[in-house]
Amino acid sequence: MAAGKPATPLCEQFGFDAGWREAQLILIGLDDHTRDDVRLLHDRLLTRAASEQIIDRFYTQLLRNAQAAELLASFDLGHLKSRQVDYLSEFGVRFSDARYFESRARVGVAHARVGVPLSLYLESFGLLQCLILEWLMDQVSDDAQRDTLTRLVLKLTTLDIALATEVYHRSQIQALDRSVKHLKLEQNILRSQLEQDALTGVSSRTSLLRELEGAIAHCRKTGQPLAVIMADLDHFKVVNDTQGHLVGDQVLAEVAARIKAALREFDLVGRYGGEEFVILLENTSLHTARQIAERVRQHIGSQPVRTASQQVEITISQGLAMCEKDDDSQSLLKRADQAMYAAKDAGRNCIVAG
Ligand code: GH3
Ligand code: MG
Ligand code: MG
Repeated sequence: MAAGKPATPLCEQFGFDAGWREAQLILIGLDDHTRDDVRLLHDRLLTRAASEQIIDRFYTQLLRNAQAAELLASFDLGHLKSRQVDYLSEFGVRFSDARYFESRARVGVAHARVGVPLSLYLESFGLLQCLILEWLMDQVSDDAQRDTLTRLVLKLTTLDIALATEVYHRSQIQALDRSVKHLKLEQNILRSQLEQDALTGVSSRTSLLRELEGAIAHCRKTGQPLAVIMADLDHFKVVNDTQGHLVGDQVLAEVAARIKAALREFDLVGRYGGEEFVILLENTSLHTARQIAERVRQHIGSQPVRTASQQVEITISQGLAMCEKDDDSQSLLKRADQAMYAAKDAGRNCIVAG
């Protein structure tokens, strides 16, 4: 556990507040009158020596079960026995205190964490209950005392079993909750990896195409103009060939940042291919789209991209297409692409509207 921050009590974590605890005690029939019986139980029956014997018998019988033996193999049996004797020495003592519930709850959590199957856990409780009752039959001859103590042992083990089951169940739910949270976190990371281009940080092709479909549908529904720009770096192969791929990558990332800086908040840019970007301009006229494309062109071409070792001059050619009535994403992108090639033919570093 991390130092400094105390762990939240289990009763608090699981909602075992005073009201809940009282309801359990009332249901089982443990009340103030029981306190004297508890004293009698410890004076008359569960002395330290008696508890040690009961626990010895408990483990002898438990270890006959293969599953229990396997689970216990990695534990120090002597230590477990002495813990269990302590457990019996507190059996029923101040049962209405939050601390009593807390210590019982801790035992339940420990069993759940170790992976003890619930059936085995409950059977062990049953076994311990039987052994206490057998001891009682042997040791207490007074009928009235025997009745009283039998009832008390049954009530106290009922409380322990109820708590153990509840806590076991809840700590498993907590563990599941934690793994669901972890999976959700992973899912978010994967989703953002899918949505974002890793090198440039702009939208991925997948996300861009989905957004384009949405924008076309919106354009059709509202009649608002939609402009699409296909932008392709000029002679980028030369950058790679002369400066190396790593510098090429840095240039691509910087170009993406410059495109973003030239756009409005609600415009969208995505990496369509290697050194090709697509820009979506919703509710934008041809005139405004041209102005934006010009801004992009200037942002990129007006000053070289500086990397740690180089200064790289780069320009971009852009093809502009407006969404028409019968366009789908393919036909619209195709026109923007054709316009981009026309810009290349026209000498590059320019804008052509298709
Ligand atoms: P043009 O002006 O006709 O577009 O010429 P170009 O050299 O830009 O076009 P071409 O299609 O011949 O080359 C594109 C280059 O882009 C080739 C490829 O090595 C480079 N490229 C594509 N993706 C990446 C990438 O992720 N990183 C780097 N460094 N280079 C890339
Ligand atoms: Mg290209
Ligand atoms: Mg190119």
